[in-house]
Amino acid sequence: MKYKSTRGNAESIGSAQAILQGLAGDKGLYVPVDFPTLDVKLSEIAEMDYKEVAFYILKKYLEDYTEQELKDAIEKAYDEKFETSEIAPLAKEKDVYFLELYHGKTLAFKDMALSILPHLLTTAAKKMGENKKIVILAATSGDTGKAALEGFADVENTEVIIFYPEKGVSEIQKRQMTTQEGKNTHTIAIKGNFDDAQRGVKEIFNDGAFNREMNESNHIFSSANSINIGRLVPQVVYYVYTYGQLLKRGEIKEGETINFVVPTGNFGNILAGYYAKKMGLPINKLICASNENNVLYDFINSGIYDINRKFIITNSPSMDILISSNLERLLYELSEGDEGLINRIMGQLETENKYEITPKMKENLKGFYGGYTTDEQTLETIKRVYNESKYVMDTHTAVAYKVYEQYKEETKDTSKTVIVSTASPYKFTKSVIGALSETNEGKDEFELIKVLSEHTGLQIPTPIKDLDKKEILHRTVCEKQDMKATIKEMLHI
Ligand SMILES: *Cc1c(COP(=O)(O)O)cnc(C)c1O
Repeated sequence: MKYKSTRGNAESIGSAQAILQGLAGDKGLYVPVDFPTLDVKLSEIAEMDYKEVAFYILKKYLEDYTEQELKDAIEKAYDEKFETSEIAPLAKEKDVYFLELYHGKTLAFKDMALSILPHLLTTAAKKMGENKKIVILAATSGDTGKAALEGFADVENTEVIIFYPEKGVSEIQKRQMTTQEGKNTHTIAIKGNFDDAQRGVKEIFNDGAFNREMNESNHIFSSANSINIGRLVPQVVYYVYTYGQLLKRGEIKEGETINFVVPTGNFGNILAGYYAKKMGLPINKLICASNENNVLYDFINSGIYDINRKFIITNSPSMDILISSNLERLLYELSEGDEGLINRIMGQLETENKYEITPKMKENLKGFYGGYTTDEQTLETIKRVYNESKYVMDTHTAVAYKVYEQYKEETKDTSKTVIVSTASPYKFTKSVIGALSETNEGKDEFELIKVLSEHTGLQIPTPIKDLDKKEILHRTVCEKQDMKATIKEMLHI
């Protein structure tokens, strides 16, 4: 099982090296040369717990790791850090299932992959005989940052440096990151939006001279963003696991196709669902839910990707993204591995902020449905669902739920459907309680945590209980053109 670059100008490499490297040398992303297939019966998957499914999937994608290495990583990742031993519980409300991926330490689905990535990465370094200090760089729209900081804090021989948009994250997300402990953690606000942060990080990865300078001081960069296949592969697990659970509970018949609705930003989560489908998981539609930054909605409906538009700050900030990195991996599959074409359209995206895919690729996009919601619709949905069923959704999950309603209305499809729930309502307390009750003026986001808990009876997750009392340890702010200088300062080089 090898990985090759979407742009075709880098060698095929094994998974450990791909994880260590993050991005390919030709600016492309690593993709599997061939997809593994699900070679056990779905009814057997139904009998596996989360860790067993994880082992089954990881073994297929990360062939150069030993079974023991994978088992150790899985044990260390999916332990009491998660509030529930199920790791990814499935709630049934009305006619849908909510796959709650937010019971990890940072209250968002990023924990699913970032609790295992540090173990995969440090193991990869050992296997490759890499002794330099690994510097994890990530741009975050709020959730990756905290999950990476938490995952890598005090992990030997690593430093973790996170860039977040100064004004583009929720108060709770920001406080989670600025109070992070651990000698090797660095949190930096940049004066710009998420796309600026992500572009800056990608540029750093591709800057030969800067990388050489880093190497000379005994550092190498790696990525905690979903451009790293070490992020992507662990995300395939919960799609397969969920199917097994539905089967086990008798909610579906073996082989029955189901839908997943995924609130989408960088296209990492939904791409993992697509990979699961390519492996043979019976998925009908992958429903891509966006907020008002609806580039993906337009793309799925027209085949034209066009970022010539205003960047909007919404109440689902983890999806405030115009350049979805992982879409490149989907384009690669849609074009059936046409590397020349990927180079061409990615070049177009850089020069014209726009590209159009071929009719054949549009045809191959049929397994996706795209929808989006406005902030107002998102809040209305939180309120309505709560009033009807007492189920509390965060803003991102509500975007997905609303898009599912639109999908059902439009297509009349009655397939069983799973809403991929990406964050705890407590991570976006202000918006959520604002939707449920209108009498909280003047209260800050931390007071509102209590209000939300009293209003809904939903228990406050332990990791944010005393967040406002924690000491702020990170205060660096930098201009978007100064990211490299800031990194050198942080690493004392
Ligand atoms: C990161 C994130 C998303 C978007 O996921 P992608 O993999 O970037 O598409 C959605 N919701 C929440 C809460 C997130 O943290």
